[in-house]
Amino acid sequence: MTLYPALITDALRSVRYPGSGKNIIELDMLEDDIRIAGNTVSFSLIFDKPTDPFIRSLVKTAEAAVRTAAGDDSVEVTVNVKTRQAPPPPKAPVLPGVKNIVAVSSGKGGVGKSTVAANLAVALAADGYRVGLLDADIFGPSMPRMFGLEDAEIFMHEVDGRPLIIPAERYGVKVLSIGFLVEKGNAVVWRGGMASNALKQLIEQADWGELDYFLIDMPPGTSDIHLTLVQTLALTGALVVTTPQLVAIADARKGIDMFRDPKINVPVLGIVDNMAWFTPEKHPDEKYFLFGKDEDVDALAADFDVPVLARIPLVAAVGEHSDAGAPVALENTVSALSFRHLAHELVDAVDSRNNDLPPTLKVEMH
Ligand code: ADP
Repeated sequence: MTLYPALITDALRSVRYPGSGKNIIELDMLEDDIRIAGNTVSFSLIFDKPTDPFIRSLVKTAEAAVRTAAGDDSVEVTVNVKTRQAPPPPKAPVLPGVKNIVAVSSGKGGVGKSTVAANLAVALAADGYRVGLLDADIFGPSMPRMFGLEDAEIFMHEVDGRPLIIPAERYGVKVLSIGFLVEKGNAVVWRGGMASNALKQLIEQADWGELDYFLIDMPPGTSDIHLTLVQTLALTGALVVTTPQLVAIADARKGIDMFRDPKINVPVLGIVDNMAWFTPEKHPDEKYFLFGKDEDVDALAADFDVPVLARIPLVAAVGEHSDAGAPVALENTVSALSFRHLAHELVDAVDSRNNDLPPTLKVEMH
């Protein structure tokens, strides 16, 4: 049978829009763009909203109606879907003023991940970079103590009509901690959803402003928090902290595997070998290898083809300064210099990552 426009229109009169008692021609849903070429037909149906629940079923019914009217199952029908209401605009990017986002992570707890994050933040700020530090370690938020911010009060202000949390500021670093959300000494067992929501709030509803480096102190290991983070932000990369102990290295390996998983796909910028050796403060030239060998950390780095960015000695002053609320990187000692060196290496590692690799994509939620 020869196809012609009135045949199509008549066929579509048999297609009712559910619940309206009217057909799609009466509802003015057919665009004036019927095209017929031999055995193929195309036209557009216009829906009010892109979210109309009947789009798929009406398209199928319309195709079938045209084939039936043509009396020929081999007729090729293409229905284009148009909507009167524009689709929602793409979501504004999260943290538009932040250039680089680095997760500071570790496989095992107690290897000095938070110590590294705090000192790195302070060292970067001392070099003149704009730095933010988010303490996402739900198992033991330690930034309030390390920055002497245990009694910090958190205020909000309005930015473009939105109320936003103002990060605390210390040593040139903007700091927020999941620990600020609970009373001091009031241990909270965060249930998965609660912790994830709190973390999202500290990212999306805080006024981080313009930052060169946004560091995130992660919980140890792999957790729901890691998933929330890669779904909320496009991480520039991850830094993996380990000690030379074989158990710590084995866990660091699992951590790197997680970032390298194709579904996560966050570049690992490098490894920090913390507590690499013990050095007495008074004898900075002496090194005592207590925990293991540098070669074991080197082997880990070689296996994944990532650099060891710095080796940080175990020096009592590092812990003492943390406990006193003033990270040691502010000083001019052997341990301070090792953190300063790490800061320079991280800047270089981020630069080469940004030159060599495409931007990271946020992980889509399912
Ligand atoms: P994590 O965040 O991995 O659980 P922390 O940063 O809390 O580890 O460090 C664990 C303990 O080790 C803390 O008491 C800290 O002060 C101490 N520490 C970490 N790194 C060093 C270091 N290089 N020298 C001395 N003490 C350190």
